[in-house]
Amino acid sequence: MFIEKIRYAVTLKAAFLAFFVTSLATIIRPMMIEQDILFTYIGIFNSLAMGCVFVYLKYTQPKSWYPMLFTCIGLLVLSPITFVSGGVNSQFAYLFPITPMFIALVSNAKYTWMTGLIVVILVFCLFIGVGFFPDFTYENVPQNKTASRAIWLCLSVLLSTALGVQFNRIYGAFGNKISEQAETDLLTGLKNRRSIMTFLQTVIDQSRNQKGQLSLMMIDLDHFKSINDSYGHLAGDVCLKQVAKLIQQNVRDSSDIAGRFGGEEFIVVIKNIDAQKALDIANNIRTSIEQTSVFINDEIQLTLTATIGICTISNEQLTSIEHLVDLADKALYAGKNEGRNRVVVAAI
Ligand code: GH3
Ligand code: MG
Ligand code: MG
Repeated sequence: MFIEKIRYAVTLKAAFLAFFVTSLATIIRPMMIEQDILFTYIGIFNSLAMGCVFVYLKYTQPKSWYPMLFTCIGLLVLSPITFVSGGVNSQFAYLFPITPMFIALVSNAKYTWMTGLIVVILVFCLFIGVGFFPDFTYENVPQNKTASRAIWLCLSVLLSTALGVQFNRIYGAFGNKISEQAETDLLTGLKNRRSIMTFLQTVIDQSRNQKGQLSLMMIDLDHFKSINDSYGHLAGDVCLKQVAKLIQQNVRDSSDIAGRFGGEEFIVVIKNIDAQKALDIANNIRTSIEQTSVFINDEIQLTLTATIGICTISNEQLTSIEHLVDLADKALYAGKNEGRNRVVVAAI
């Protein structure tokens, strides 16, 4: 999520920069050098195209293929001006090797290679097709090295693609690690509260117009403070890790999610499940906690119990996360009042 936002911000900045530089060049270039009026027309068209891309990116929701869209339009904009200014000998050709680098910065390895390939094909077309277009710069460029310039241009595009892919790998792995750490509870390795809340919000948004039910469990260890008081915090931590493992074993990896809500409270969210099946899972979690001994330094053997509040609600009745958590919480505290070590179903 976080990395996606950075990528979008970079794409947007690059689009604005492309618009700004193209416009500036269109205005300033004729003042500095004598050039054919054709370049001014192409410059105006290119500035408008890049301006439209920028506005489009800015005012629509970020999507993963936007960098590619921006690059394709960028290449389309760059091609005509390069064709009429000498092809591979054009000063604009210097911009080609940057393109895969940009894609590497904001996208993945697949898109970077694709871009590299597109640019190489474009350079090849420039090399082959330049004879069909007059050179409106009227520069006296010796043509005998055009082929070697095309080869070096292709090589630099490929080099920049390969470097970009390597950079992308490092950057991607780094980003994944940071996202993973930001979503994980350090002690138990389960999802943390923020991650669970984000997941819940996504589930609520996705299931708004769908049939089905969602179940949420709040699991609170009984008299946990006394374990800390009697055996110390480290012993308490061992117990929390063990309970986390037991909870994780009882949920499906693919669609369900288990997390630590805070302190000695855990939360489980199960999608598309009926009330009875959800209750069975809650009972399994409760009994597995009750029946599994926790060993502290292979010396002390502890047994724990947990109280679980469970709320299974149809998607139509689901209004907000707070409402759902509140219902499960009330059931949990009813269970505590009734004597602990039990599962209580929320009254909806
Ligand atoms: P109840 O049955 O009513 O839930 O009693 P309880 O003692 O479990 O509840 P209480 O909320 O009074 O105590 C929770 C305790 O959980 C207090 C705190 O010492 C302990 N705790 C919270 N977070 C951690 C943690 O990360 N590690 C350890 N070891 N203990 C923690
Ligand atoms: Mg407790
Ligand atoms: Mg508690």
